This record gives sequence, C-alpha cells and structure tokens, in this order.
Amino acid sequence: MSLKPPPLRNDCFALPPGVDWTPVDQALNMLEDRLTPVVGTQSAPLAQAMGRVLAQDVRARRANPPEANTAVDGYGFAAQSLPDGDVVLPLISGRSAAGAPFAGAVPAGHALRVLTGAALPDGVDTVVLDEDCAVDGGQVAFRGGIKPGSNTRRAGEDVAEGQIALAAGRLLTPADLSLAAAVGLSVLPVYEKLRVAVLSTGDEVVEPGAKAAPGQIFDANRPMLLSMIARFGFEPVDMGRVADDRSALRTRLDEAADKAHLVLTSGGASAGDEDHVSALLREAGAMQEWRIALKPGRPLALGLWNGAPVFGLPGNPVAAFVCALIFARPAMGLLAGAGWDKPQGFDVPAAFSKNKKPGRREYLRARMRGGQVEVFKSEGSGRVSGLSWADGLVELEDGARSVAPGDLVRYIPFGSFGL
Ligand code: AMP
Ligand code: MG
Repeated sequence: MSLKPPPLRNDCFALPPGVDWTPVDQALNMLEDRLTPVVGTQSAPLAQAMGRVLAQDVRARRANPPEANTAVDGYGFAAQSLPDGDVVLPLISGRSAAGAPFAGAVPAGHALRVLTGAALPDGVDTVVLDEDCAVDGGQVAFRGGIKPGSNTRRAGEDVAEGQIALAAGRLLTPADLSLAAAVGLSVLPVYEKLRVAVLSTGDEVVEPGAKAAPGQIFDANRPMLLSMIARFGFEPVDMGRVADDRSALRTRLDEAADKAHLVLTSGGASAGDEDHVSALLREAGAMQEWRIALKPGRPLALGLWNGAPVFGLPGNPVAAFVCALIFARPAMGLLAGAGWDKPQGFDVPAAFSKNKKPGRREYLRARMRGGQVEVFKSEGSGRVSGLSWADGLVELEDGARSVAPGDLVRYIPFGSFGL
C-alpha cells in the first residue's frame, strides 16, 4: 500500500524576477511554500515506529487511565462519609490491588486497603497515604482535612477515549510510543521513509583512507551527510563520488533520482568551468542558483532531476554542513510529511566579541560552557575541526551586529536540528 502524492512542479524553485541576493528567511519561506510530501503511507508496529512520521491523526481506543484508580498505597473510603476532625474508620476485609480489583462495595464510614494502580471500588473516591495512617487490626486512623479525591486518578483524566492522542506529521519519539501503547494502539499509520541520495563531486575528492596523490583530498562530506540523514530518521542512499565529468555525473544523477526521493550533492554547485552539478541542472531547465545571503553558505543550486528535487550543496564541508542544516533539513521534513520545522534557539550570554557587517546572516560554530556560548577560534570555512568542536550554531541576524561579552545572542544547539 503506497499512496503517491502529486509530483513537484518543474519551476518549483524559481525565484521571483529581479531577485538577486535572497535573505535566508525569504529562501526558507519559498521552500516552505513550494515543497509538499513525496512519500507514500504504510503501517508500522510500535517496535518499528520510533523516528517515523505519523501519517494521520490517531485517536485513543481506550481512555488513560481506563478507570479511576489509586496513585499510592494506602486506605480508600468515601470522602463524604468522614466525620469532622481526626478520623478512625473500621477496615473491611480484603483489598484492591493493581490487576486484582476488589469485587464488592465499600460501605459509607468504612475503609479498604488499596495498592498503587488498583481500581477504586464502589464507595471509594479518596485515598489516604500509608505514611499518614496508624493501623491496628481492624481500624485505620488519620488526621482530618483530607481533600476529596486525594491520591486518586480520574478515569480519562490524561486522555479521553476517542480523543486525538497524536497528530499527523509528528516525528514519533519514545514518549509518543508510550502514549500510543497506553491508549491501546499497537500499529501506527506512518509515512514511508524519505530516501535521500548523497553524492560527492570533484576530481580532487578521494575515498577516506585511500591513497591520496598531491592535490587530492578525502571526501569529508559524504560521511557527514549520510549520517545526518540517518539521524533525522530518513534513509540515506550512498551514491558515492563522481569526478568533474558531465556525462558521468548525468548517469549518476539518473541513478540517484531513480533510487531516492531527494538528492543531495556537494561541490560543483557554482557557476565555474568545473561546476557540473549546476550546469546539468541548468541544462535540464529546472535549475535555480540561489544566491543566499548567508555565511558560510554559497553557492546553493536547487533543481529537479527527473522529478526529484536536487539540493546542490557547497563543496566546502563547513558550508555544506550549515546549508544542510538550515535549508535541506526543513525541506526534507516537508518532503517526508513532517511539516516545516523551525529549530528552537535560545538567547544566551556571549563569551566572545564580534563586529558583523550588514548584508548576510551568519552562523558561527559554537558551544555552551558555564552558561555562556563560545565560538570557534576561527571562522575559516575550511576548518572542519571547528564543526567537530561545536555543539551548536550561533545565529547572527542579517543586519549589522556588534556583540560584546555578556550580550545575548541566539544559540541553536545541534539537538534542535535533530542531530
Ligand atoms: P566546489 O564547491 O566544488 O568548488 O568546492 C569547494 C571546496 O570544497 C573546494 O576546496 C573543494 O576541494 C572542497 N570540497 C568539495 N567537495 C568536498 C568533499 N566531498 N570533501 C571535502 N572537501 C570538498
Ligand atoms: Mg568542485
């Protein structure tokens, strides 16, 4: 069973006429407007539903809790039957335990031994905690002033039967699976996993660990992008490396578009002689070079290849990483049925100073230490070690900004991006 959504339009990445440098927010708005889910739906048992995207609202088949029960070990009675002041009640024989409810009713003015999770029998609406009681054989004594309903849980107080327990688009977490189980669901409607192909380009790029001639560098982008995709809960499709050769790249893009819903390439995305990703997308008539006012970032080439969206990320690993988080990630979320997700940032005191010129948004490799945010010692976009050092990004707005130590700056932990 795989319901196919309509294809994306060939001009879905077209920029309005006259647009040159696109502010980050405008670029994000355009992606949000134009992309739609491209995945079909299927069912997943709870054990396989973690990290999947819920395809429909699901309703509680049973209330949680299903019946009124006691939240503690103690003694249950009807609050109305209590005298004023301190209380001594005769205990009736028997008890109510979780999974072994008391069959009879508790008469007014009497109490029953109850254990955590036990259903409240007829005649019990309030429970007094063990520690607040004195008991001898047939009686229980405790101080007056107990509020009616104390230490009990009402039926359906958490979730009512038939109520929407989880909403469509939700990226399922362990807590969601607990909730689904609690309300009687064992199989959930989910979207098919988004398959994302990753392809590195460049004559100079060789496989990590291989023999590298002078002038060659190891492919630092593919391991990063493939693992990022897996972390987001999508299915990475490794399309390897391809040289700066137009026909080889054309063949590989065909394969990638065939195997995956979306293709991420790195390198070759600007307008130079060896920038074959952008050249091919342009040739296919479905290419837009987005000159986004972003540091580190440009260039970003967006296009459709045989109907599959292609994100042509910059070759530089730091820029590829930032563009993947800022642009590709929310776009993938939409394509995957999870809706558009804006990462949560926090305003925290800076442990650094910086004068930023107006014109483009900047993302700095950053980490939290002692309640303040530090930035990496170098903004050099070739410094891959800074990515590894960081545990998040500092986002500096598009306009000019002067930051002094102690000023609040927006910090977005990698966790907010789902890493
Ligand atoms: P390009 O966007 O192809 O002009 O590449 C920009 C820079 O990123 C160049 O210095 C490339 O050598 C480098 N680069 C491209 N792809 C990779 C990769 N997969 N791993 C590491 N560096 C890369
Ligand atoms: Mg290149």
